Parts: sequence; C-alpha cells; structure tokens
Amino acid sequence: MSEYSDCYYCKGIVKEQNISREIWWKGSLYIFENVPVGICVQCGEKVIKPKAAKYMDLLLRKQTEPRKTIQVPVYEYAQSPA
Ligand SMILES: [Zn+2]
Repeated sequence: MSEYSDCYYCKGIVKEQNISREIWWKGSLYIFENVPVGICVQCGEKVIKPKAAKYMDLLLRKQTEPRKTIQVPVYEYAQSPA
C-alpha cells in the first residue's frame, strides 16, 4: 500500500501519517490539519504527494471558508535572558 518511494536522502521506508502543515500564502499563515504526509521512519524527512499539495493550493486559491480561525501570538527574539 506504499504510495511513496524510499526516502530520497537515506533510502529509508516512508510511511504515511496525518499531520498539520503550515503554509505561508500571500503573506499570511494558513494551517491545514490532518494532511496525509509521507514521513521517513529513519531520518524523518517529510514528503508530500503532488496531489495533496495541489489540493491545499486549490483550497487557498478558491478562498474556501476555513473550519476555524485561530490567533497566533508572535514574539520577536530580541535578546536572550541574562
Ligand atoms: Zn530518510
């Protein structure tokens, strides 16, 4: 059932998991939950299927109503504590 070829970097087995992906699009941050992504069991390299990438791109371009909107606090790492 593997739809993924072996890891490009280490030739490890790539297994699919549903994870969250953050995507910056036109200067804004979008989060997609439960995205099927192939993850190398050896080195953790993530591979996204072109079909999945295209689908997320389509949702953004169609300006689909999101399931929910969250606020994200942003900090500037200005200075380390002494
Ligand atoms: Zn790998």
